[in-house]
Amino acid sequence: MHTTCPYCGVGCGVKVDSQGVPGGDAGHPANLGALCVKGMALGESQSLPNRLLYPRVNGEQVDWPGAIDHIARRFGELVERHGPGAIAFYGSGQMLTEDYYVANKLMKGFIGSANIDTNSRLCMSSAVAAHQHAFGEDAVPASYEDIDQAELVVIVGANTAWTHPVLFRRLEAAKAANPHQQWVVIDPRATATAQQADLHLAITPGSDLVLFNGLARHILDSNRLDRHFVERHVAGFDELQRQLSAPEYRPETVAEATGLSIARLERFYQLFLDHPKTLTLFCMGINQSLQGTLNAGAIINCHLLTGRIGKPGAAPFSLTGQPNAMGGREVGGLANQLAAHMDFAPANRDKVARFWNTDRLAQAPGHKAMDMIAAIERGEIKALWVMGTNPAVSLPDSDRARRALASCELLIVSDISPNTDTAKLAQVLLPAAGWGEKDGTVTNSARIISRQRPFKPAPGAARPDWWALCQVARAMGFEQAFAFESAADIFREHAALTGFENGGERLFDISALSTLSNAEFDAMTPRSWPLSGKEGGPARLFADGRFSTPDGKARLRSAQPSAAGPAGLLLNTGRLRDQWHTMSRTGHVARLMAAATEPQAQLHPDTLAALGLERAELIKLHNEQGRTLVRPVADPGMAPGQVFVPMHWSEEFSAGGRINDLVEARGCALSGQPAFKQNRVQATPV
Ligand code: SF4
Repeated sequence: MHTTCPYCGVGCGVKVDSQGVPGGDAGHPANLGALCVKGMALGESQSLPNRLLYPRVNGEQVDWPGAIDHIARRFGELVERHGPGAIAFYGSGQMLTEDYYVANKLMKGFIGSANIDTNSRLCMSSAVAAHQHAFGEDAVPASYEDIDQAELVVIVGANTAWTHPVLFRRLEAAKAANPHQQWVVIDPRATATAQQADLHLAITPGSDLVLFNGLARHILDSNRLDRHFVERHVAGFDELQRQLSAPEYRPETVAEATGLSIARLERFYQLFLDHPKTLTLFCMGINQSLQGTLNAGAIINCHLLTGRIGKPGAAPFSLTGQPNAMGGREVGGLANQLAAHMDFAPANRDKVARFWNTDRLAQAPGHKAMDMIAAIERGEIKALWVMGTNPAVSLPDSDRARRALASCELLIVSDISPNTDTAKLAQVLLPAAGWGEKDGTVTNSARIISRQRPFKPAPGAARPDWWALCQVARAMGFEQAFAFESAADIFREHAALTGFENGGERLFDISALSTLSNAEFDAMTPRSWPLSGKEGGPARLFADGRFSTPDGKARLRSAQPSAAGPAGLLLNTGRLRDQWHTMSRTGHVARLMAAATEPQAQLHPDTLAALGLERAELIKLHNEQGRTLVRPVADPGMAPGQVFVPMHWSEEFSAGGRINDLVEARGCALSGQPAFKQNRVQATPV
């Protein structure tokens, strides 16, 4: 039985044998049979010590009809008293596309509230906003095959060796097959990825925009602009050229701002000029920034100026963190998107309202993740349904988020565990079917739609999330619009909406799959969009130089870097190789826990000495937001003046280490993505 790994955006195919033991699927294009340590341990993560088996309301076990009636009645009362904006939904890149589709349809289409956002806001939304601006659509131009064909791979703000391990193996294989392939890794830390680079640029955190604007200036000054491509296919050149003529983009000024030597900076710039087949992989270090959208835009600018897009081995390539962050974006599961890659423009509202046959459609974007917390505090949002995620740990200023969640008149949590920090705050707990039990589709970083298939029954009364959403919708009186009987029913409607009066203006059109029979859906093999007929389409987008903007031209983004932040120890957060999110699954697998059994903070030995912490067993990290205890570890790969703490730890697994308590609730103004990597803390011995 073929399915897909639930842990990250690489989207590896998994083959489960007749004994239920998972292994790599050699036939899946994302991984060609390889799995990382988390994927290999999927079998061990199947038995949680305390699985949520039955619905609970106010601590009492109830049956599903009791829980559904309670939710529908309370939603109805709140909408009548306060309007649809009093209801909100916070989902997850763990949800299958079918779950996402139904949640989006219920919230935006029938309750009439666009207050539906997701933890993908925390990981991808800056890249989404950059794609929408540059290409006219949230479309990742590259494919994994480009890794094999690239001459230069630039990895920015990503520890791929740990966070996308199977993709990293593909990178290693590509370099082994082509020893001339060069790697530049741009990361403040000497990570496992950076250690294998031909050139590691340990830039000052937050200086990515200066670095790539400087590269754009260098392209122009070196007369290496692809004038033919820019004249035909790109808009905004004159404005960008004017902006790049400013003195701050001279090499010596860029070197100072980024903390690099002129020699290293010029080596990077020369490598870029010398290798037309450049693939730039970027991830959280770019996205989780006050200027996340502008950072991603500056990378895309460099590719557009040199015509390095739509060609083998040449593209900007945003790596998604979660298994179905892309699928959620496809159905519109973000507060500022309507559905199927459509925004809230009047013509789109009209289309979607007619397709869903509703007169209750939300008319404007809703609150994004961080804004939802503020809206709860103001008393505007009264009820929140959280599905498959743990915002009490993962949101910035998480202590504040926890207080807001606890203050909701109605907090519903759908999960497989009752023990997450968020589940413990819920008045209504709904037992969800987990990986291996649920049925549907996911889309990975490279636009490959794959099936997740059930291979065992869900325990107790656990049910798929789409089923619970449909039950609530029907109990609220929307029987006809939510008469879905299976994931296949939902997928067909989702696919049909992507093609509804599309007219070719959106690349994301999988309507050819809207006529799949149940058997065909069941047998569906992985395929990338845009499709060729019903099969996967071209590996890379924009090969013809035509983009999804009204005039068909890509748009350059002009932007100035903002001033540096206040002084102090700079906090950087990120993932460990063997852990996933807030550890609610991987934290129960002994061999995954073995690599890091407690929260630790990595600091350069000189920083520890300067702070008098060389002998400290435990330290307190603190700032205005909060405080946490961690064990300090000397790491010469850290830059002086910085501290790195993993994002995973929660109350469920440790008394300390919940690092997002110290992260300020602020982020990129264009995307709403929190700036997890730009906070200041103090460190003192305990
Ligand atoms: Fe799963 Fe990602 Fe590992 Fe692949 S690389 S096995 S998708 S966690």
